[in-house]
Amino acid sequence: MQTCLLCHKKPVNNLDEAATLRRERKMKICRVETFLLHVPVTSNHVADSLHEVSHWGVPGVVLCTDSGLQGYGYTGTHAHLPTDRLITDAIEYTYGPLLAGEDANDVHRLWRKLHHFPPAQWVGRAGILKMALAAVDIALWDLKAKASGLPLWRLLGGVRPQGIQAYNTDCGWLSVPTSELVDGCRKLTEEDGWLGLKIKIGHPDVRHDFERLRAVRRAVGPNIRLMVDANGVLDLPTALRYGDRLADYDISWFEEPLWYDDCRGHARLARAIRTPIALGEQIYSLDGFRQFIDAEAVHYVQPDAVRLGGISEWWQVADLALSHRLPVAPHAGDMVQVHLHLALAHPACSILEYIPWLRDSIEDSAAVRDGHFVPPQMPGAGTTLRADARERFGVSLKTASPSAANCAPVCTD
Ligand SMILES: [Mg+2]
Repeated sequence: MQTCLLCHKKPVNNLDEAATLRRERKMKICRVETFLLHVPVTSNHVADSLHEVSHWGVPGVVLCTDSGLQGYGYTGTHAHLPTDRLITDAIEYTYGPLLAGEDANDVHRLWRKLHHFPPAQWVGRAGILKMALAAVDIALWDLKAKASGLPLWRLLGGVRPQGIQAYNTDCGWLSVPTSELVDGCRKLTEEDGWLGLKIKIGHPDVRHDFERLRAVRRAVGPNIRLMVDANGVLDLPTALRYGDRLADYDISWFEEPLWYDDCRGHARLARAIRTPIALGEQIYSLDGFRQFIDAEAVHYVQPDAVRLGGISEWWQVADLALSHRLPVAPHAGDMVQVHLHLALAHPACSILEYIPWLRDSIEDSAAVRDGHFVPPQMPGAGTTLRADARERFGVSLKTASPSAANCAPVCTD
């Protein structure tokens, strides 16, 4: 076989030679190192209808390989140290030994190995174990993209090299006074070029929510996309009452009106109101999404890779949504770093949430220009911590137990 006329590279037509090259590209996992950041949120305090946080928790993992490359992955929490430690312990003590010495290239095989590990499956097909699995899976994809020399969205066959529309959630917390909310929304749209905003609702007084919505719609005009999010606090009669009126303000979607797992209630609501339903940020599995989609309980599908078992399962959910012609609007529990890559790559996505809490912690933090995310160009999944992140926001993982030492090597040559 001749050398390629275009690239002048010699083809590999010998199977043994090709096998040698593949062997050389192996990335043996030689260390599993956990970390935890507690990063202050905007103004050091935000609240929605159910949650109140001062910091965003980032329990994560660095997978070190014999290639010298390191993969970073993390999940997202309310920065509650005892539960954050459960996640990092699950990474280090449950999944760490299963990863020791493995080839990091085999992402899907390793995902299956961890996801199907009987002792873990027995106690945690949702919640802590799933969030720990998410961190590991994201770190594996970060490694794979770095080894390829590509940003993850390109490795996944990106469909939107021009960028994707962003919407801002950080302006619309329920804790923000109305005058401040209106001024903030006006500034974001008039001065900063934002095209979409999300407003939190679910105040005990329904009239308060609608006064705010009316004021925001008047301030930003008819051309800005507005979404509302009740964070699962309403009962069905109250959600129906909201639903009757939301269309008056041209609301693009009504997010998590009812409790997260109430598939039947969401289906009843979806049949009764004109505003589309969005949900999924609290669903932990592909099967969970299938249940809601089959019941026609959701219009905008909002999978979160840091709550599902990482990128591998997120992609399956997005494919499921696509097969039902449902749009995917990812939830940004990762504070947008991973989901930006996924949204640029998956054909079901057309809009993505923006919350900037990790912009000072990540090397290649997401950027928005003229209302659209700028496609990142650094190789990887966008999860690599800045050199000073642990110093500024790191929290000790050491517990009273002498066996809980952090950063223990899991294998040696
Ligand atoms: Mg939400």
